[in-house]
Amino acid sequence: MKLIRNIEVYAPEKLGVKDVLIAGGKICKIGENLEISPCLDVEVIDGSGKILLPGFIDCHVHVLGGGGEGGFANRTPEATLSGLTRYGITTVVGCLGTDGIGRHVEGLIAKVKGLNAQGITAYAYTGSYEIPVHTVTDSIVKDIMMIEEVLGVGEIAISDHRSSQPSFEAFAKVCADSRLGGILSGKAGIINIHLGDSPRCMDLIEQVIAETEIPATQFLPTHVNRNAMLFDKAVEYAKNGGAVDFTGNEDIDYWETICDEVRVSTGIKRMLDEGVDSDLITISSDGQGSLPIFKDGQFMGMGVGCSSCLLKEVKECITRENIPLEIAIKPITSNPAKILKLENKGRIAEGMDADFCIMTQELDIDTVIAKGQIMVENGEIMVRGNFE
Ligand code: ZN
Repeated sequence: MKLIRNIEVYAPEKLGVKDVLIAGGKICKIGENLEISPCLDVEVIDGSGKILLPGFIDCHVHVLGGGGEGGFANRTPEATLSGLTRYGITTVVGCLGTDGIGRHVEGLIAKVKGLNAQGITAYAYTGSYEIPVHTVTDSIVKDIMMIEEVLGVGEIAISDHRSSQPSFEAFAKVCADSRLGGILSGKAGIINIHLGDSPRCMDLIEQVIAETEIPATQFLPTHVNRNAMLFDKAVEYAKNGGAVDFTGNEDIDYWETICDEVRVSTGIKRMLDEGVDSDLITISSDGQGSLPIFKDGQFMGMGVGCSSCLLKEVKECITRENIPLEIAIKPITSNPAKILKLENKGRIAEGMDADFCIMTQELDIDTVIAKGQIMVENGEIMVRGNFE
């Protein structure tokens, strides 16, 4: 059991200064001046002057590694436990990307099982960029129904030179299968869509919503801030009730100079100003994915995406755009939990999983707790994965 005393709680809505009691990996009680029987062995954490946020959810990470564009030497490394927890990530959703041959779903599920065994919570999408979709059981429906960690299908690529150029019928069938798998298993059955930079933008998704019975709630398109044209479409899409996933960026000042990627904080502010429901916006890192690096137009090599950008983007929403903390934090806590139907995640409330980030007043990470276990304390890694 652990008791966090006198901490300012954002659930994400502001709850004020509270005590939070944790037992068995769950939040047992939230209140003021909680009395604890002296016969109980309770570890007390002093939260005075600190802020308690739900543990962060990174809903699009290439946990098994990704990349491979430009050749085998450009394959990117796997995620590590402390490479996630050090940035406040207590829940991660893994996916495959461009390469669905050198990487496969079985390996992804094994990696996700490993992260769960190491102490955080991890899920996966079945498939990769490609249609027909590579699965474990040769069926999208069966993968979602029968493999506990699988939430849906993705990241299916459209409007991209690296996509399998799916026809409308082939794409709609994948969407239908993911929805059916979700319905039969009580999961979200989300179709996570990689949006490329072609002018076709979100056309295929919009066509499925318009011409079939599959609703917008089935989709979570990502990279919506990839360029200005796509982002304009995404604003309209979100105004009509579709959820959208921004890809965070650790060094947007660099990227803004070489392409018209939309800064996450600027984009979120615009969506909110245009009346988009603040529940529909998520931010993910595309962690472990490859990032080509150029200098003065010359290809310099590959970088690797990192979950560190999630907190950085939230801070920018607050400092550059004056979005209040309780709204700014939703895209990496309660929103992905709600959209992906992660029932015990993303909120600080009694009965939920004890996943927390204890933050300083400057919103730097102090302590990270996953399922009741301290993973990071005073900025220091307390639990490492084997072989880290
Ligand atoms: Zn992608």
